[in-house]
Amino acid sequence: MLQFENYVPVRIVFGAKKLESVGEHAKALGSKALIVTTGPFFKESGLIDRVAGYLKEAGVQSEVFMDASPNPHSDEADAGAAFAKETGCDVVIGLGGGSAIDAAKCIAVGAAQGEPTWPYWIGEKDIFAALPIIAVTTTSGTGSHITPYSVITNTETNEKPGAGADVMYPKVAIVDSELMATLPAKMTAATGFDVLAHAIEAYTSNDANPFSDQYAEEAIKLVGKYLKRAIDDGSDAEARDGMAMADTYSGCAISIAVITMCHAMAHAVGGVCNTVHGESLAAMTPSTMRHSISGRPEKYKKIGELLSSKDVASAEASVDVVAAFIKDIGMAIPLNEQGVKESDFDEIIAGATGYMAGGMELDPVLVTPEDVRKVLEDSL
Ligand code: NAD
Repeated sequence: MLQFENYVPVRIVFGAKKLESVGEHAKALGSKALIVTTGPFFKESGLIDRVAGYLKEAGVQSEVFMDASPNPHSDEADAGAAFAKETGCDVVIGLGGGSAIDAAKCIAVGAAQGEPTWPYWIGEKDIFAALPIIAVTTTSGTGSHITPYSVITNTETNEKPGAGADVMYPKVAIVDSELMATLPAKMTAATGFDVLAHAIEAYTSNDANPFSDQYAEEAIKLVGKYLKRAIDDGSDAEARDGMAMADTYSGCAISIAVITMCHAMAHAVGGVCNTVHGESLAAMTPSTMRHSISGRPEKYKKIGELLSSKDVASAEASVDVVAAFIKDIGMAIPLNEQGVKESDFDEIIAGATGYMAGGMELDPVLVTPEDVRKVLEDSL
């Protein structure tokens, strides 16, 4: 018997030049915005000034917090939350990829509930309040502009959990693909692979439902059609739009059906070795798919068909299609080339089956610590 719940309450503002609407959306939510970004690109490219300018035109004041790292840290988010309170900000704008948007979400929670934020991210305390969040995504992507999740790293414990709460759904997601034209080819490939991994995992998750299946299928098709084009020519507007749609569909899919084994492992790998998220996913996706095929053979077979727009003989052949795609987009980078060593395995396994156990439990096939070790060995 079919039973499910669906809740993805995000106003999606999609299209070229939609960044210009950020002021009017912020005005509906507050009077002073904190713009949260990662790294100098956003300052040097003039994007921060553009956002601040649109806010000013709409009568919204702004402050800037640029100190979030790629794979943002909990102490950075705490500093951002304290700054938001000191400066009286009442709305938070994440401007960037998943890292900036996740940092913005954590800052929004810290500003509303108080720091330190880490206890909320490891489930010691409930997340029940956040300042309103606007997500302006510049990668395609993590889906973070759509999801209620935020992934934060603790550099003392080497943990990288994702917390989720309804209050962390962005009120508005601005998806302006013109902003993605500057994303370098390597990051386009890595973030684009994250889209595919989300779709594969949501599609095969124990929490999948008819809505998440539609989103995931569409995302896989779009990645197959547009990711290589976006990598080869970052100024290909149709390909950037296609990937932005894929990312948005995938974000909806994981908001409903979450993630499974590969993401649970990639978080643990990232926490221990500070790898590029999409690269770690690409290294481990073929092996995790093989692990889980028997749980949903029909769906695994269809993944290869959707990605290649061709018939695929079997679920196993579908894994080969995904592996060939990974090679074609330049993402066949074994974990050892990403800085992961065999001596890191125990800590990774503990994280993947410990604080990331929720993701593992959604995998269609039971995952044991030995299975995690096997995937790490296969992907090294
Ligand atoms: P990112 O946000 O870390 O950005 C990577 C680099 O690209 C940064 O240096 C950034 O400054 C730069 N950059 C971003 N946009 C650019 C642009 N348009 N032009 C030029 N440079 C640009 O990358 P990401 O892959 O989007 O995010 C990764 C993070 O998101 C990881 O921490 C991952 O764990 C997390 N994540 C979150 C979710 C979620 O649901 N919240 C899902 C998956 C992953």
